[in-house]
Amino acid sequence: MSALGDFMAEQNSKQNKAAAVSKFATVDAGDLEAVDLKRALAWTHTARFLTTASQLDQLPVTELPEIAFVGRSNAGKSTAINTLTQQKRLAFASKTPGRTQHINLFELGPKLAPNALFADLPGYGYAAVERGAKMRWQRVMADYLAVRRSLVGVVLMVDSRLGFTELDEQLLEFVTPRLAGGLVKLLVLLTKSDKLNRSESNAALAAAQNVLGERATDDADLGIVLFSALKKVGVGDAARALQSWIEPPKEA
Ligand code: GDP
Repeated sequence: MSALGDFMAEQNSKQNKAAAVSKFATVDAGDLEAVDLKRALAWTHTARFLTTASQLDQLPVTELPEIAFVGRSNAGKSTAINTLTQQKRLAFASKTPGRTQHINLFELGPKLAPNALFADLPGYGYAAVERGAKMRWQRVMADYLAVRRSLVGVVLMVDSRLGFTELDEQLLEFVTPRLAGGLVKLLVLLTKSDKLNRSESNAALAAAQNVLGERATDDADLGIVLFSALKKVGVGDAARALQSWIEPPKEA
């Protein structure tokens, strides 16, 4: 069976039904229904490495809508990207020594007519990182999130057992002005949810809802999904949400 075939079989598992999109969902249930699961997963599967940049001004200027993946080191970002794209090591380029501070871009859609980019941003939060490196990280992230014109959405990986850290909150701060106006959408993946039982999962969701609730406005599109790469929980919902970002539902 193909990777997608395997994947689809797993999607039918009971566990997937536990995936939750909160009341802050980027897309309401109606919109999500409109984005076909199979098509969304086939689309994320097209992701291929495009380029890597150590500075913002090295990023290609592009009209393609870009979705950024961010999170603290070890939150499960590389694994989430590989799982969403159903590829074994797409995101591990980001872990190559010397490249961990780079922004890696992946292109999606038909080869001759790409329709979106994924940007894998540097993981943050190593306790041992010296002050200078922290300052550089802040500047790169703040600049990227505030000024990257083609940015349409941010996927924030948060370890479901740890919840939001101070740096996660700081990162949200950088993008809040654009989130508030609905110009950039946010999806929080509560990762490694296979390590939580049902009541812990509910508590993790409620805690994340509280954090996002502080940033909710009429126009903001904020979503939360319980996610497990290991058990394939939330993968379909995440893929559909991302596809809806680049293909907004047609106005009636
Ligand atoms: P990154 O630094 O954010 O890119 O994190 P990685 O993707 O490298 O994951 C960090 C660690 O968490 C690795 O040991 C992964 O195997 C583990 N991990 C990632 N996703 C999951 C998951 O869904 N379930 C479990 N149990 N472990 C996971």
